[in-house]
Amino acid sequence: MVSHDELGPEKILEVFDSKTGMRGFVVIDNTALGPGKGGIRMTPSVSIDEVAKLARAMTYKCALAGLPFGGGKSGIVADPRKMSPEQKNAIIASFSKALKVVCPKLYVSAPDINTAEHEMKIFAEANGSMKSCTGKPASMGGIPHELGSTGFGVHHATLVAVKHLGLDIKNLSFAVEGFGNVGWFAAKFLTEKGAKLVATSDSKGLVYVPDGMDFNKLVDVKKEKGTVTAYPSGQIMKGEDIVGLDVDILVTAAVPDLITEANKDSIKAKIVVEGSNIPTTADIEQYLHDKGILVVPDFVANAGGVISSYVEYIGGTPERMFKMVESKVVKNTAKVLKVAKKQKIKPRDAAVHVAIERIKKKMEKKASKI
Ligand code: GLU
Repeated sequence: MVSHDELGPEKILEVFDSKTGMRGFVVIDNTALGPGKGGIRMTPSVSIDEVAKLARAMTYKCALAGLPFGGGKSGIVADPRKMSPEQKNAIIASFSKALKVVCPKLYVSAPDINTAEHEMKIFAEANGSMKSCTGKPASMGGIPHELGSTGFGVHHATLVAVKHLGLDIKNLSFAVEGFGNVGWFAAKFLTEKGAKLVATSDSKGLVYVPDGMDFNKLVDVKKEKGTVTAYPSGQIMKGEDIVGLDVDILVTAAVPDLITEANKDSIKAKIVVEGSNIPTTADIEQYLHDKGILVVPDFVANAGGVISSYVEYIGGTPERMFKMVESKVVKNTAKVLKVAKKQKIKPRDAAVHVAIERIKKKMEKKASKI
């Protein structure tokens, strides 16, 4: 049973289609500030519980970013690697049609794990409304998340955290868990700022080069060989070993629950930036905070994606998107870290506090009109 509180979830819709084999759900967590916003996660293991947690993260993310969106998220239970492109398209289209009862009025979709601009095209066409999702291809007037909005924002959140600790990015090493859309761009922008990229990972494993990797060479290797582990002269390890590497900054950018009870003590980084959604629990974050590790929470660090979605929603350009991602992520990360320091609480608690205040204010205002 999904847990709920005064914020939500407001609605949970479960949908099936025996013709295409589609099985999915959408959780609309809170719509006080606007339609529930959040992407479609397509994995074999996705559950309503996971989607509900992610929907709540979206509620906080949009409120903190000051966007007129609430929080939502959806899941399709499927393994895209085991199906043909036609099958995947049919599942996305059938999911989109089944969601017409809530989308785009109460829920606006977007890319997430295993869904990207192509899937958004299929989704929007099947729904019939261009407002039903964001992250659509440029040919449809969209701003694809593949332009790197989330990774760009993650890099800015990292720079703010570095400054907050009085450090210089040029003297720091970092590791990026995952070399997908988020990790790739976070690594690109951070190396451009002079940080030393010593490790990254993908589904094949982890590559560690203590002297630092050349970002462009890494990109070539990934494109040619299909995996970062083919980077020459790198030490190869298991993906999850990235948590315990001797680095200054750890950027998470792929799987949920990466940092666990079993590996939390191995962390050597001074700063953990959560580019991925829910890479650990609030209890473990508290533990790391008490040990003096600065953890920039997911919904603060990775808001770039949904900020990009908002710019698309209002018909803006990619140039405007990059400007808005930078200004909002820098401002909000700095604010959250400042409040956390002043109140001697962990950054997540400070961020949740700011977000909830904004949502409750709107909910009270709406209630007083009834
Ligand atoms: N999947 C992205 C996220 O978790 C984007 C969501 C959106 O733009 O609605 O933030």
